[in-house]
Amino acid sequence: MKPLIIANWKCNPTNLIEAKKLFNKVRSLDVVICPPFVYLNTRYKIQDTKYKLGAQNCHYEQSGTYTGEISPKMLEDLGLKYVIIGHSERRIHFKETDEMINKKLKAALKAGLKPILCIGEKKGENAKKIISGQLKKDLKGISKKDLSKIIIAYEPVWAIGTGDFCKPDKAKKALDFIKQKINTRILYGGSVNSKISKSYIKVGFNGLLVGGASLDAQEFIKIVKNA
Ligand code: PEP
Repeated sequence: MKPLIIANWKCNPTNLIEAKKLFNKVRSLDVVICPPFVYLNTRYKIQDTKYKLGAQNCHYEQSGTYTGEISPKMLEDLGLKYVIIGHSERRIHFKETDEMINKKLKAALKAGLKPILCIGEKKGENAKKIISGQLKKDLKGISKKDLSKIIIAYEPVWAIGTGDFCKPDKAKKALDFIKQKINTRILYGGSVNSKISKSYIKVGFNGLLVGGASLDAQEFIKIVKNA
């Protein structure tokens, strides 16, 4: 199966002109781009794009009195297929709990989206213990059929945005451990660059979740080509 490469633009860029420039530069890539919510509609204005769009987060209810939230149903209605759920930056800065993440996953699946569930340990933590705890709580009550629709991104928190990527051999240990627990696509994320991208695919990951480097079009194109 072709590797699935997902770009997480996080809270960047800060204006539509820059966002469109970036969309244009990567228009021929067969990837998933997750820009900030406000740029999701720009796909109507950019011609002949190959990439698909995804969101970086969603709410756990489809509608209602939840000021400031975006629901899975709204994303589905926009024509999106993918949504990142449980990114460590949301767990840390916005205090998202495993219980909230479990509700978000269920709501996203109900709306027909493919969730990308991010899991991973912080520095000094036991990776297997954290991964199994997150998987147990985040996936609680989800049917076997729905589990296969979820994409897992193994993202050691200490590797995100630090330049200190998890060496492929070490990441493979986490990959093998996750594979014992869930039969679905598993990606690696954490300071991926064009020199290392291929190594993660070689050790068995089904794709990559790329943050910082996806904002540099040239580097991102290289990451995709090398992978
Ligand atoms: C991410 O945001 O999911 C990520 C992996 O970021 P970076 O590539 O910048 O480490």
